[in-house]
Amino acid sequence: MTPDSLKRLRDWFRANAAELPWRLANLDALRDPYVVWISETMLQQTQVSTVKDYFIRWMRRFPDVETLAKADEAEVFKFWQGLGYYSRARNILKTAKIVATLRQAQGPSKMPETRKELEALPGIGAYTAGAILSLAYHKREAILDGNLVRIFSRLYKLDFLPTSRNRVRDDRSGMTEKKATQSSSEIYWGYAREIADSPKAYIHNEALMELGRTVCKTKSPLCEACPLHNECCAFIDGQTAEFPPVKKRLEKNWHGTVLVVESKDGKILAVNGGQKFLDGQLSLPHFESMRGATVGFPAKAEDYINADDVETVEQRGTFRHSITVHKIECNVLHVQLSINAKNSRTSGAYTTKWIEKAKAFETFANSFSLKALKKVF
Ligand code: SF4
Repeated sequence: MTPDSLKRLRDWFRANAAELPWRLANLDALRDPYVVWISETMLQQTQVSTVKDYFIRWMRRFPDVETLAKADEAEVFKFWQGLGYYSRARNILKTAKIVATLRQAQGPSKMPETRKELEALPGIGAYTAGAILSLAYHKREAILDGNLVRIFSRLYKLDFLPTSRNRVRDDRSGMTEKKATQSSSEIYWGYAREIADSPKAYIHNEALMELGRTVCKTKSPLCEACPLHNECCAFIDGQTAEFPPVKKRLEKNWHGTVLVVESKDGKILAVNGGQKFLDGQLSLPHFESMRGATVGFPAKAEDYINADDVETVEQRGTFRHSITVHKIECNVLHVQLSINAKNSRTSGAYTTKWIEKAKAFETFANSFSLKALKKVF
């Protein structure tokens, strides 16, 4: 990108930057690295409009790293509930504990200030590290997210995504021999570094993210309003719909059964670990099953309860759900026991816990379990 086009990009951003709870009115001010880290992690895989409220609630409860580091995982999950990809929340908590410990040992320094140190922390990859370094510390560090990939692909007519190695064909892309020998990821990162090689890297990075979100949209980009349209190869050639190439999403269908096991004294069986989904957090027990195989008490349920203790088993319908690439369809079985709840126990890969029925909806912090509960209560 030329100096002139970068200036047009900056001017466009200063005139069009949306008000967001993690963005300061002064676009040139240094940001709080904690704010950048949390907001950028929430924004991975999630729309800005959804993240706003989550971010505000999060900051009210966990205004800084120290407060967050003292929280337990169940509470952090509660504040994450609905954003999906719970490994992000788990990693945020792990990193908060590490950073808080570092601060105790080294004094009130902020988060690490080098890419190497940041990327060594759980859940912080190249993108988040670049965002923290450029937006919070104004370093000349690149970022590359889906917005920038889409823009670069259209600007330079890159007919590949930054995933596989050496898929570049010179005849279509016009890449030089040198670039054609790089991995596709390195080529995209190369463009990202070019625009970040400036004292204004922080504004170039954020302006491109905003441009991708609001103008260079996946479908029907608003090219006439784009500050880069004079040099955009896809726009000039009338081919914006062809770039970037469509990534085939690998979807996996999964059919299973969820157990809502209720004890005689009104408690619900929860498990932690050893499940197909939601590993490491409290969920209802579930297992793979054939579609239609819902009559009676399934043999796999005996992993959790003794068949002799079962009073009734009722089919309560099915629900659909998505977790990462999995398209899930689940039967819900309400299993009423003739005995009171027992003590928690650990068996193999999972631990059981009995939860008061009245508190079940506030205890489970995942939509999967809540959907199953709604079929019963
Ligand atoms: S001109 Fe259109 S396709 Fe090209 S970068 Fe701008 S919005 Fe995207």
